[in-house]
Amino acid sequence: MKHLYVHVPFCQRRCSYCDFSIAARKRVPAREYVDAVLRELTLLGTTDPGREPGDVGGENLETLYLGGGTPSLLPPDAISALLTSLLDVFRATSSRAVFEVTLEANPEDVTPDSARAWRRAGINRVSLGAQSFDNRVLQWMHRSHDATRIGDAVRTLRVAGFDNISLDLIFAIPAEVERDWARDLDLACALLPAHLSLYGLTVEERTPLARWISRGATSAPNDERYAEEYLLAHGRLAAYGYHFYEVSNAARHGHRSRHNSAYWSGRAYLGLGPAAHSFDGRVRRWNLPAWEAYRRAVAAGRSAVDAEEVLTEEQLALERLYLALRSDAGLPRSACPADRLTAWRGEGWVDVQGERVVCTPEGWLRLDALVSDLTNLGRAV
Ligand code: SF4
Repeated sequence: MKHLYVHVPFCQRRCSYCDFSIAARKRVPAREYVDAVLRELTLLGTTDPGREPGDVGGENLETLYLGGGTPSLLPPDAISALLTSLLDVFRATSSRAVFEVTLEANPEDVTPDSARAWRRAGINRVSLGAQSFDNRVLQWMHRSHDATRIGDAVRTLRVAGFDNISLDLIFAIPAEVERDWARDLDLACALLPAHLSLYGLTVEERTPLARWISRGATSAPNDERYAEEYLLAHGRLAAYGYHFYEVSNAARHGHRSRHNSAYWSGRAYLGLGPAAHSFDGRVRRWNLPAWEAYRRAVAAGRSAVDAEEVLTEEQLALERLYLALRSDAGLPRSACPADRLTAWRGEGWVDVQGERVVCTPEGWLRLDALVSDLTNLGRAV
């Protein structure tokens, strides 16, 4: 297995829009967590008959991603112990230059000591949950940092030796919050991150945001605002030298996320930790989402897998179609019927680059409709 994801479920508190399976904790049970993940690893192949030996080492690992939740809530020595044990099992690729190890971090967890310790532990990429540079917006989101912490965190990471820093931002926030999206983009770019991930706000059931909307305290995000801010981001980031290589992700040259690119090119990956997903090219498995249920299962020597689905040829073809169109790899021209291609180009939804058909920003705004258009024609990649 060349791509490993490790899910860390702990957060200080729940953000207003988040429905992830998190465990809100003031004190993170770091030792129990690390033990549980390593225990899950030893159980692979014994409790899950579908697993192959390659799932638990053997190949040279190319990317390792600590996501969450808030992985930066783990004490640095727990992160170090976890990475050391994982790399004992999964050999890192022989070229350290191409081995990408990402830590998702919240700005308030970045201190000179933690940043140096992460670097020593082998982390070489940090994805910061910035979300906005406006304190009112951050409070509305129930984030636990203020705007000044974002710049402080980026500078601290740089001093510790990190040059591969990504910032997450959320857009399409309801109008009454009066968020200035252009200002946030400018402030983010002024920090010169290598990479930016932009996510449109969505309303998930059983979140504070869904409750606010249902009682009329705030309006629902709307499609017009989403489209307007999405297109604004494309123009702005292009001017700052970023290239959108995927519908939600933009990077400076040479700084695409290798881990996420593996997902988007349909490669196999292994996920460890509660709620983590794995994919071997045909079977998708996902772990028990709740931390306590996960911990009890692996402690008792049971599989952490909650469920799995075996993808049919049709589902795999549909996934390939989505994945191709959502990234700048695009579709082979031969997979796009001539009448569709002419119509889509006429609307400005795709460009033809050599033998590939690649979505424009306007095309990415209607990705579902484009895929549905093709699948209704009975075509696939
Ligand atoms: S920090 Fe991330 S995972 Fe945790 S509650 Fe907020 S959005 Fe969800």
